[in-house]
Amino acid sequence: MIRGLLFFHVIIAGLTVSGQTYSPKLNQKLAEIEHATTLVKEFESFGIKSHGSQAKTNTFNWLIDAYESYGYDSIRVDSFIQDGSVVRNVVVTKPGVSSKYIIVCGHYDTRNGPGANDNGSGVAAILETARLIKDLKTNRGVIFINFDREEDGFKGSNYHVWQVLGGQNCDTNLYMVLNIDQIGGSFGQPDNDKITCERDEENDPSFNNALSYLLTDTIASLCKLYTTLQPEISNAFLSDYVPFEKQGYVITGLYQSASDVFGHSLADTFGNMDTVSFKQAVRLTMASTLYFAQVDSFVSVKEVVRSQFRLFPNPATDQIHVELKNEAESVELVDVFGRIVFFDKPSHPTTIINTTHVVSGSYFVRIVMKTGAVITSPVIIQHK
Ligand SMILES: [Zn+2]
Repeated sequence: MIRGLLFFHVIIAGLTVSGQTYSPKLNQKLAEIEHATTLVKEFESFGIKSHGSQAKTNTFNWLIDAYESYGYDSIRVDSFIQDGSVVRNVVVTKPGVSSKYIIVCGHYDTRNGPGANDNGSGVAAILETARLIKDLKTNRGVIFINFDREEDGFKGSNYHVWQVLGGQNCDTNLYMVLNIDQIGGSFGQPDNDKITCERDEENDPSFNNALSYLLTDTIASLCKLYTTLQPEISNAFLSDYVPFEKQGYVITGLYQSASDVFGHSLADTFGNMDTVSFKQAVRLTMASTLYFAQVDSFVSVKEVVRSQFRLFPNPATDQIHVELKNEAESVELVDVFGRIVFFDKPSHPTTIINTTHVVSGSYFVRIVMKTGAVITSPVIIQHK
């Protein structure tokens, strides 16, 4: 799906790095990425993957072969007939230690062109991630999905939400959905060094927004730690996360607006992509997947964040106490639309946020440390 250059709601992610700390081990793992560009070229070679086409069937077979060659034994095909032809989602499970899991997804159908960027780029990032993390132990499982028929109304992902997950917010084990659609920019574009980290700003429903904000901030932080790209935070729209969002699931995504130039045309080829930008975006896909899957062997980020502050009570009524171990530049209370409803430059280790004037709902506390680190933590305000 081409999403156009949407400039409203764009907030440049802070100059700062969030609660995460740099992990040399994760960086080493990212250095193993090597097949992504080959995968995009192979994807392109199948041609225009429109509904009912042989090209799409060939791409589907190629996906199955790839996951099999990486050693996955849990490969499921969800298929149904629509408009006279079969629609097929490829669903690959990497089990985790716990029953919780994340979905990492990107569509493989294309419109009017071979779709190297839209969305061979996302498919390649997902395949390369699946290949490299298969044998890493993660706390949350990962389900990799290549959806069919995104280009004409998210039909594959809609099927998954209703027929596999059971509809509205039914699968409580699904922690979040990370959607990758159009990464890798376009040849010669000035914005190739920017990547949009997409968060849920939709109001219907809004209860799933706060966690989406938090996770998207985290992706922006990972971006600064492990890539040369500049993260921008914007609203998620027009891709396979939409059916999930509408039914209450927590979503986030990656997209590069510089990718739109050749979209949905015969010129959407690997030669018209920006290879530097693409490689960096693949790194971010893999770093985010490993981070959200809670990979066992890398830095435990939560502890780092938790050790820096204490926030209570949560849920709160009239006051939130924020206790800081180190000096902070600012403490903010932000609503699900990103509006700052409280701001303080703290001069004491404890900041008290008065919430009597704030309506009940989901918020997050955002703390910018003097070191430049940013900590974001969700909080519920519940007036009696
Ligand atoms: Zn797309």
